[in-house]
Amino acid sequence: MKADLLIHSAAQLCVVPPHDGGPQRGPRLGDLGIIEDGAVACADSRIVAVGPTERVRADWWAPTEIDASGKVVCPGFVDPHTHVVWAGSRAEKFAERIREGDHRGTEAADEVRAIVRATRAAPLAQLVAETRSRLDRMLAHGTTTVEVKTGYGLSSVHELRLLEAIAILEVTHPLTLVPTFLGAYVVPDEFLEDPNGYTDQVIDMLPLVACPGDFREGPCLTRTLKVPFCDVLCDEGGFTAEQARRILERARELGMDLKVHADQFRAWGGAALAVEMEAASADHLTCTPPEEIERLGSSDTVAVLLPATSFGLGLHRYAPARAILEAGGALALGTNCNATTSWCESMPLVIALACRYLQLTPEQALVAATLNAAYAIGLGGTVGSLQVGWAADILILNVPDVHHLGYRFGTNPVERVIKEGKIVVG
Ligand SMILES: [Zn+2]
Repeated sequence: MKADLLIHSAAQLCVVPPHDGGPQRGPRLGDLGIIEDGAVACADSRIVAVGPTERVRADWWAPTEIDASGKVVCPGFVDPHTHVVWAGSRAEKFAERIREGDHRGTEAADEVRAIVRATRAAPLAQLVAETRSRLDRMLAHGTTTVEVKTGYGLSSVHELRLLEAIAILEVTHPLTLVPTFLGAYVVPDEFLEDPNGYTDQVIDMLPLVACPGDFREGPCLTRTLKVPFCDVLCDEGGFTAEQARRILERARELGMDLKVHADQFRAWGGAALAVEMEAASADHLTCTPPEEIERLGSSDTVAVLLPATSFGLGLHRYAPARAILEAGGALALGTNCNATTSWCESMPLVIALACRYLQLTPEQALVAATLNAAYAIGLGGTVGSLQVGWAADILILNVPDVHHLGYRFGTNPVERVIKEGKIVVG
């Protein structure tokens, strides 16, 4: 039979199979389902065959065939946590912050507000262009699906403008974007004395975001943009658990799925809130106490860990990944690409950091950066694994063995990127 594209003879083809129709949990994390001398065929943007080269080639041929001898083939990376839509930078502040060494949530919030001012002032075309260049580099480093949060707007007008930028990029960039509304990132300048008042504002913004067609007029793309997730920063410098709960309850009423920035700087009740609200993910978890890790581990909420954030701030405290796995949790990895704490566009670097500071094996980190990350953003069953019928989002890595992933760092191991069956890099 004829396919559109056939990749064959891979030294290791990593299938990354789901377990029991879901993410790989707890100590079972790290099952790559490796096929030596493996092949994968794609047609109409989907995977149509996976297996040993001899068997796949017996049934399939394609006008484009790629010899992956001596290389690793795996699913495209899924980055489940980014704030990639912003304008400007805090480069001038970087040296000072690193020298001072002490980072608290309140300082982090001041930094976010500086980027909010720059983002509000930037024309839409500039915002789209700056974001597009970041997405291009993410794609070059193997990310094929990315979650994208708002949050550098913090008023209904400016948050909707960020969604407009996301809507433009969604139709003009090969990456798949999954939008998340993060109106509750920090309290903006104009509400510093009245955080409860701003919480009310966020609650008022939710219908505009959840049901865009009902509220937005004219030809703007956001009329039809689907925003599946609402996120809240429940931490020092952000929102209290009580404020966060009010926002999340309203979002849930409107049919949105939930996410929580939990306990990055302080134990703040964020992880417990995420479990209580049956959130899709609880993210960061650097300071989450052991009893909350236990509850998270036995829930369906995915723990999204972001080691580039601690690294980016020069901090030595990382999330308790081993404890999450011992508790049976589903663990995923993301870049947290943002303007203030983690301008990181590279999932291979995140894997290298996760191996060292979260004590994950390369196999565990690869599953956390693909299959499990897809479940954190509602795309389980669609991307993150080389399964027949799933999206043909595939990487060819210029390494002979998966153990080189994480072991090597600072250069890009991604040689080719196939997005929905088309070669988009290499
Ligand atoms: Zn974040």
